[in-house]
Amino acid sequence: MKFCDLDIQYDLLKKDIDTQISTVLDHKWFVGGPEIAKLEEMLCQRVGSKYAASVSSGTTGLLVALMGLGVKRGDWVITTPFTFAATVGTIAFLGAKPLMVDIEEDTFNIDSKKVSSLLENPIDPATGEKIPSENIKGIVVVNLFGQCADFDSIRAAIGENRFILEDAAQSFGASNNGRFSCTLGDVAVTSFFPSKPLACYGDGGMIFTNNSFLHEKMKMMINHGQRKKYEHAIIGLNFRMDTIQSAILLAKAKPFFEKEIASRNLVAQRYNIGLFDLEHNGNIRLPIVKEENVSVFAQYSILVENGLRDALKTALADKDIPTAIHYPIPLHLQPAFSYLGYSDGDFPIAEKVSQKIISLPFDPYKTEEEILLVCRHIASFFMEHTAQTTVQ
Ligand SMILES: *Cc1c(COP(=O)(O)O)cnc(C)c1O
Repeated sequence: MKFCDLDIQYDLLKKDIDTQISTVLDHKWFVGGPEIAKLEEMLCQRVGSKYAASVSSGTTGLLVALMGLGVKRGDWVITTPFTFAATVGTIAFLGAKPLMVDIEEDTFNIDSKKVSSLLENPIDPATGEKIPSENIKGIVVVNLFGQCADFDSIRAAIGENRFILEDAAQSFGASNNGRFSCTLGDVAVTSFFPSKPLACYGDGGMIFTNNSFLHEKMKMMINHGQRKKYEHAIIGLNFRMDTIQSAILLAKAKPFFEKEIASRNLVAQRYNIGLFDLEHNGNIRLPIVKEENVSVFAQYSILVENGLRDALKTALADKDIPTAIHYPIPLHLQPAFSYLGYSDGDFPIAEKVSQKIISLPFDPYKTEEEILLVCRHIASFFMEHTAQTTVQ
């Protein structure tokens, strides 16, 4: 079994994908070809955003969005320690400082109540000194594992004068109260990395906003700061998506919205049913999706209780069932971010979850048999373990 199998989708969509790719091979407009604008328009319509700018990856998208928002050395940007490194790395790369806030127990997304309490008394963890409130410029909110964070509460917590950047790398196609991810903050960035919910065949990403000024600025930053060729109004670099990736996404976007979001939820539902008893017995905790949310399950991740996560991972690997840990070390405990001055115990929920979490094999084409097989192996693992403890 593969952790995330890309074969079946390609077999199903091969004709459309190959046609799209060969169109690009024919016209040879490999950078900035017509497929780019077509894709931007199509995805804007799908999610309900005014503007979209394609970029070379989710990471470069976050970088461009932060630069577009004017984030610079000396600024502070609130974010979560329980995410992929790019969320925090892009803030730090610009010389700004990530100001971390712990996550919610149920969704693993940033906790808006803790954002509020942080803002009442913001302290630099490295010096112990108070951070001037006006230096805290905004927040990067991650929709972890495909579920949207609580943007209404986050907006209320940070006020109107700070930006919200939605890191939607894992949540493209998800929705909250009927609003699609990528429209929930001032600007949003998604990723089309091959294992993300909507994926291309290489690196790619997109930045969404309703702000025309910000959009124009970011478009220029993506392409050497130029509006016209060889006229550089501002400093920019090359953060462009290439045409072939956008062509592949043109073939994949329709089936993604019309079929795969539902299939992803069906696969998750089957796992929920197959693992129900184990949760009931207190061995694991299943993913919690809030009533107002539709998740795209970028990952199907469960919590393993009683310190058995690593043993379960090994047992499943022995049965040829691959799993992944998202994420084994929260970012405040990573060497790269040690200069920020955080220490073990600062974000107890993120730390606890990183010890317990495990992601199971997942893609929208996993069959009921495959899911049952995974569930059965998990069940026998716990049966063996429970038997051992009883004997002891
Ligand atoms: C994948 C991911 C990114 C980065 O996207 P890339 O396209 O791989 O650069 C950023 N943030 C989060 C939360 C991600 O999961």
